[in-house]
Amino acid sequence: MSAHDDELNPLQAAEARFDLAAEALDLDAGIAKILRTPSREVTVYIPVELDDGRIEVFTGYRVQHSIARGPAKGGIRYAPDVTLDEVRALASWMTWKCAVVNIPYGGGKGGVICDPAILSQRELERITRRYTAEMMDVIGPELDVPAPDMGTNQQTMAWIMDTYSMHKRHTVTAVVTGKPLDLGGSRGRTEATGRGCLFVTLEALKKFGIEREQARVVVQGFGNVGGQAARLMAQAGMKVVSVIEWDGAVYNAGGLDIEKLMAHRVETGSIVDFPGGENIDKEEALYLECDVLVPAAKENVITSGNAHRIRARILTEGANGPTTAPADPVLKEKGVFVIPDILANAGGVTVSYFEWVQDRQGYFWNEQLVNDRLEEMMVASFRDVVSYAGKHGVDNRTAAYMLAIDRVAFTIKLRGLYA
Ligand code: NAD
Repeated sequence: MSAHDDELNPLQAAEARFDLAAEALDLDAGIAKILRTPSREVTVYIPVELDDGRIEVFTGYRVQHSIARGPAKGGIRYAPDVTLDEVRALASWMTWKCAVVNIPYGGGKGGVICDPAILSQRELERITRRYTAEMMDVIGPELDVPAPDMGTNQQTMAWIMDTYSMHKRHTVTAVVTGKPLDLGGSRGRTEATGRGCLFVTLEALKKFGIEREQARVVVQGFGNVGGQAARLMAQAGMKVVSVIEWDGAVYNAGGLDIEKLMAHRVETGSIVDFPGGENIDKEEALYLECDVLVPAAKENVITSGNAHRIRARILTEGANGPTTAPADPVLKEKGVFVIPDILANAGGVTVSYFEWVQDRQGYFWNEQLVNDRLEEMMVASFRDVVSYAGKHGVDNRTAAYMLAIDRVAFTIKLRGLYA
């Protein structure tokens, strides 16, 4: 059985999850109508002179799904196949993610249709600066705070911050997060998403009475999220038995030495042929029997076509949307304890929130304080979701959505409709 195309469409996936939770909540039809519709969408056309003198016009989007609880918050994606539907879906995801961890943000997302792999740094800088100038009226510390996503990074954020500041005639660090440390970035941001995965996973292990030293972990994706999650989980005493990348997987029943695996990847460009483990098939690795599986590579990895093969006790969704909506009932049937993406990977946006707070205070925290506050918020959010699931007799994902939707709906009701 293979996954159907509809199953893989991000907007349909987001709507399916929303509808399920809205129904379970018995959400007011009018509020549901508001929450199904983005609050604002902006499309801009960005004329840019390329290095060879030609002029190209790029299309850029910013969607603010909700600003009910605070400024919109969410990344900007540079990719050749970005669509408005995808940006809409990702923006609504951000609303729910911010509400699950109870930070005072709405949800937003941006995108520019371009291929960063074939553009020079100068070209990317020109695209970014013009995109920012076009979005001057819709972004800002109180309005909408972008961050990096696929194809963008700290440098992109530095250009946005600089362009925005030039227009405002003074330095405004809080307009974006994910900035370099020297420009108002936060300590601990790089590891934040992986660290958040660790905190919620430790809570789940406690719940099942599994000693962390006994916990066998499989991580898919050895990038920012998966690499840090693997490193921190190993550091916490867990056994990371397998790491899966796009070009292969490695296995060691006694636990891989993650620091050495990182060094091996830097040296050789791949995790494959690591002396501290054996190469295994990357498909089969996903189906290893384990206590914790961390899909941290990309979306639509666990579908209705393969969910029955998952043999993990706990699924910590490091990536966004690694499990499709039709795969959920299969996992439920198998008794897999899912820590859904909007909770499991919310450590990134939580430390982004800390970055924005520090920028606005002009007072910067040490790393220990960042990590302690992150732990406090991740653990509290995990407990909120799990107790909500118990109380309402639903799975964790539905509970996370219900909790988030309930929080946003409550704010909308309190504020009332301005007419
Ligand atoms: P990344 O590019 O740093 O890492 C992704 C890794 O996955 C890369 O090493 C890549 O080679 C690997 N990969 C790609 N395709 C694969 C495949 N088919 N099988 C195995 N490995 C594969 O990206 P990231 O920032 O770590 O993000 C990963 C996921 O986490 C994405 O879904 C992203 O949206 C989500 N996420 C990231 C953050 C963050 O703070 N970076 C926050 C929340 C969610």
